[in-house]
Amino acid sequence: MARRRQLYEGKAKILFEGPEPGTLVQYFKDDASTANGTKKGTITGKGVLNNRISEYLMSRLAEIGIPTHFVRRLNMREQLIREVEIVPLSMVVRNVAAGSLSTRLGIAEGTRLPRSIIEYYFKNEALNDPLVSEEHITAFGWAGTADLDDMVALALRINDFLMGLLLGVGITLVDFKLEFGRLWENDEMRIILADEISPDNCRLWDSKTNEKMDKDRFRRDLGKVEEGYQEVARRLGILPEAGTRDLKGPETMQ
Ligand code: UDP
Repeated sequence: MARRRQLYEGKAKILFEGPEPGTLVQYFKDDASTANGTKKGTITGKGVLNNRISEYLMSRLAEIGIPTHFVRRLNMREQLIREVEIVPLSMVVRNVAAGSLSTRLGIAEGTRLPRSIIEYYFKNEALNDPLVSEEHITAFGWAGTADLDDMVALALRINDFLMGLLLGVGITLVDFKLEFGRLWENDEMRIILADEISPDNCRLWDSKTNEKMDKDRFRRDLGKVEEGYQEVARRLGILPEAGTRDLKGPETMQ
């Protein structure tokens, strides 16, 4: 079988050329690392779970009219997506203080924020993805004012919808990171949601106990990392049918 052309390999995903022009295949790995790369490891079954969780959440978002790059899931670890020109910004939406916001501003983790807050980070690994303002973004041309307005409006709608959906299954959406891309269709450009939405880029806490069910279990050495991701999928009703057995990828038959 002809090998597909690999276009990009990131920390948690690989992008391959898609079966038709304008599409890509997004492959989810089990690899995990912290933002500054100080800690590396694997979380068994993470790729399978993130593929399912992101498929599920992006499909729900599409149903309420949020444009996304997701087309369909192809198999346990791969999904077909639309090729976009990624805007070089990470948009973080926060509902509860945690992580870098708590460290930077001295607000105790778990403090409910007076309103949802959006932060922008410039996607540049060599600079450790620095926090930037709207002024930096428009002055340096990473995105124009109209694009930024679209991204903020989408991010707030996504936050409202996901907060409700997750609360319904006993999960508090503390914060999450989004990436957007530009899709060109007949000389017209639209901003659409790209990347993934999964416990790798969301903080998800049990709404009763505040127990963490996301990548902080890995980042902070809390143990039971796989279990956290599985519990999110289980509560959403999308845990792969064979349970954890089919999370490890194909096994050679004797
Ligand atoms: N996040 C991410 N990728 C990054 C940095 C952050 O997906 O490179 C997500 C993270 O999972 C969390 C949110 O963005 O849900 C806010 O992260 P924060 O700024 O608090 O940084 P951290 O404490 O994770 O370094």
